[in-house]
Amino acid sequence: MSKSTWSFESDPRLLFILVCLLFLTACQKNEEQSAELFVFGTIVEIKLWGASPEEASHAFSELQKMFQGMHRDWHAWEPGRLTKINQAFAEGRSATADPDLIEMIRRSQSIEKHTGGRFNPAIGALIRLWGFHTSDYPIKGPPPSAEQISAILELKPSSNDIHIDGMQVRSDNPVVQLDFGGIAKGYAVDLTIARLREMGINNAIVNAGGDLRAIGKHGDRPWRVAVRKPGGGNIGSIQVREDESIFTSGNYERFRQDQTERYPHILDPGTGWPAKDVASVTVIADEGLLADAAATALLVAGLEGWPEVARALFLDQVAVVDASGTVFLTPAMEQRIEFGGEVAHVVVPNQP
Ligand code: ADP
Ligand code: MG
Repeated sequence: MSKSTWSFESDPRLLFILVCLLFLTACQKNEEQSAELFVFGTIVEIKLWGASPEEASHAFSELQKMFQGMHRDWHAWEPGRLTKINQAFAEGRSATADPDLIEMIRRSQSIEKHTGGRFNPAIGALIRLWGFHTSDYPIKGPPPSAEQISAILELKPSSNDIHIDGMQVRSDNPVVQLDFGGIAKGYAVDLTIARLREMGINNAIVNAGGDLRAIGKHGDRPWRVAVRKPGGGNIGSIQVREDESIFTSGNYERFRQDQTERYPHILDPGTGWPAKDVASVTVIADEGLLADAAATALLVAGLEGWPEVARALFLDQVAVVDASGTVFLTPAMEQRIEFGGEVAHVVVPNQP
């Protein structure tokens, strides 16, 4: 009996098929490249479509360096560039700020005005007073006293107290302490997308725990993402268009807890107390920074106020979830969400 005579030499077609198969698996493997990086206490998942493994690993290591810089420079309480600037504000001195921080200050000044002060990154002293300068949640214990809160509010901290002169910044008001927790993720995601584009990568999604920006496509289909539901799970999903950001602010993950009550980490700068009316807000906008700031501001605006603030920011795609889980959403947002199962929802016209 002769042994099997199968060999590449005896059948060149076999070699051809094998090479094709290897090529296909290699391509399939290479089509999506992903990495999980870490910034501001959040895992950022980055997926690239169509980049080679070499391009992807170069991109991921560049981004990791970028994230380390942001973490160091934008942190509201770990000593770095921002804490130095805050110290200078408290002492009435000028400080030097790099272009990324100047950009965050300028954009904040405008968003603070448009939102009637609901978004206000100058309330760092109040955020610290509430104990929210920590990564360890939940915080235990009673809230600060009304006197402590009004001692800060009476001095009316505002990002518009800050004057920018070239790279120099100073504040007229010593109570101004910048805390960019409400836009840092959004701006980080924008800078990440810009960096990827510089590297020639045009199909990507940058997802920081459900807050994300996507460009291009996932092969021949759009990127698809889940919309988080307060308390866990998802409301449904959204197909992301070519260049879009989707951000959610919630009052259910980070909070202070005493014997009877929860005090969530987003504060109403008008009262100095946590915004409790709304459980979560999801915003779709072009830019991450705007979507992120808007989600924070709309959460503060509450069930009554959010449509007006959304109009002031020219946003037409907003979903607001109340404490009972009912979703209130603009007509344009209703077109975007594919609800997963029975979800009570109410369409709210966004024209006055
Ligand atoms: P998350 O993504 O954590 O749900 P946000 O994007 O809304 O939340 O950011 C919340 C953070 O923003 C807080 O931890 C604090 O640092 C800061 N912050 C709280 N209240 C305000 C406010 N009214 N305006 C601007 N920033 C705020
Ligand atoms: Mg935000």
